[in-house]
Amino acid sequence: MHNVPLYLAGDFVESQTTDWIDVTDPATNRVIARAPVTTDAEMQRAIENAGEVFKTWRDVPVSERARVMLRYQALLKEHHDEIAGILSQETGKTLDDAKGDVWRGVEVVEHAASVGSMMMGETLGNVARNVDTHSWIQPLGVCAGITPFNFPAMIPLWMFPMAIACGNTFVLKPSEQVPLTAMRLAELFEQAGAPAGTLQVVHGGKAQVDTLLTDPAIKAISFVGSVPVGQYIYETGTRNMKRVQSFAGAKNHMVIMPDADKQQVINALVGASVGAAGQRCMAISVAVFVGEAQAWIPELKEAMTKVRPGAADDDAAGYGPMISAAARDRVESLITSGEDQGANLLLDGRGFTIEGLPDGNWVGPTLFSGVTTEMAIYNEEIFGPVLACMEEDSLDAAIELINRSPYGNGVSIFTGSGGAARRFQHEIEVGQVGVNIPIPVPLPFFSFTGWKGSFYGDQHAYGKQAVRFYTETKTVTSRWFSSEATPEANFSIQLR
Ligand code: NAD
Repeated sequence: MHNVPLYLAGDFVESQTTDWIDVTDPATNRVIARAPVTTDAEMQRAIENAGEVFKTWRDVPVSERARVMLRYQALLKEHHDEIAGILSQETGKTLDDAKGDVWRGVEVVEHAASVGSMMMGETLGNVARNVDTHSWIQPLGVCAGITPFNFPAMIPLWMFPMAIACGNTFVLKPSEQVPLTAMRLAELFEQAGAPAGTLQVVHGGKAQVDTLLTDPAIKAISFVGSVPVGQYIYETGTRNMKRVQSFAGAKNHMVIMPDADKQQVINALVGASVGAAGQRCMAISVAVFVGEAQAWIPELKEAMTKVRPGAADDDAAGYGPMISAAARDRVESLITSGEDQGANLLLDGRGFTIEGLPDGNWVGPTLFSGVTTEMAIYNEEIFGPVLACMEEDSLDAAIELINRSPYGNGVSIFTGSGGAARRFQHEIEVGQVGVNIPIPVPLPFFSFTGWKGSFYGDQHAYGKQAVRFYTETKTVTSRWFSSEATPEANFSIQLR
């Protein structure tokens, strides 16, 4: 067991705090490290140093900033399996899942390496006689990121590489449940040649987040996490006049049309609902069977019965444990509420045990049918390996159901009909749509586009638009005199 350091002003240092948070291995609940609750003085040091370093980093040529990202990408690839090992220990993810988590982050760093072309402004000559206009895209200053437990590599990497490539400096507060991966990412960032202080990493919870939300030196906040915290971050950050993007929770549906390929549907549903223990913001948690497709539910149940959780090094495990005992208890109590509210519990994952790992936070695959919109298992984000099946008579009814949901992160349709797929894409009020793809997470050249209660802010700044989120545009209009053209006095503010 070790104390997780802070990364302050370019040094990995032990916090002076007396308050520490246990980091556990969810497969055993053994304490593997302690994360510090960063002191106020340490928070100030991180923010002030990031402000100082911004003054020079902003002027480092864009190609040099891009080169840091190229070296970082190479180092992340070189250390890919090692990072996945750390990540799977603190999250319980299977090694395959952990590797996917790291890889999706590597892709963002690759994208950040082309920051030069993404930061190009616009020009137009002769907007008036002898007058030209051009715009520059410039960094904001100190930006901050607050990240959740479920993707300890990918989500921090959504944020700081783009922000820093744009010329900003960054204070990262990773989830206190999984601080170890973030520290390894920071070590490799330093090794890649990122100047001291461009990235600072602090740990803790609400109090440390509040400092980031209220300190005037922080210009922009990126958040990923649950709905209530996401709303709080958006409200508090914007009240303090900051630019905020807040990616929040979800409840994602998959519509199954009777003309879909049955085996593809079953495979996709099993993977998308219980994969990663359902601890994914893009997990499918509601299956909407249209018409005769309902007849496939018994086969779905059979397929789900064959999947089980297990430890990271267990090759036969389909997924890992819940992040904490509290998360497991919450999932189990939601399963109980589903039973109490009249859903058919076809497969019950409560009380799941694994030989040799009696203290892990296990929940077995869980399947309900006959779920209705009043039930808590429909309305709440369960964030566990639980799939709720519903039945509708038509595609129209399925679209209507989904459009009434307060969430809008991801959705999917499985169908053999181009017409149905096209209508669905156009009419569905959800930001990320899969057609015969269960979890349509876009690559970083696109944006991550949750809608409604799954996103607060006006710029979906994960991929393409990240540059817009982390920069300001400056428009310069200039007049150049030539010997022949001496302008007369001009009392109007309009350009002539
Ligand atoms: P969480 O909201 O509990 O925590 C996220 C971060 O906020 C952590 O760093 C935590 O320390 C901090 N935090 C917690 N409570 C706070 C408070 N009261 N005030 C200020 N900060 C606080 O989320 P989690 O359980 O770590 O992650 C799971 C959630 O994240 C799920 O709801 C999931 O859907 C969501 N998520 C969303 C996306 C997306 O892109 N939309 C991606 C991944 C995860």
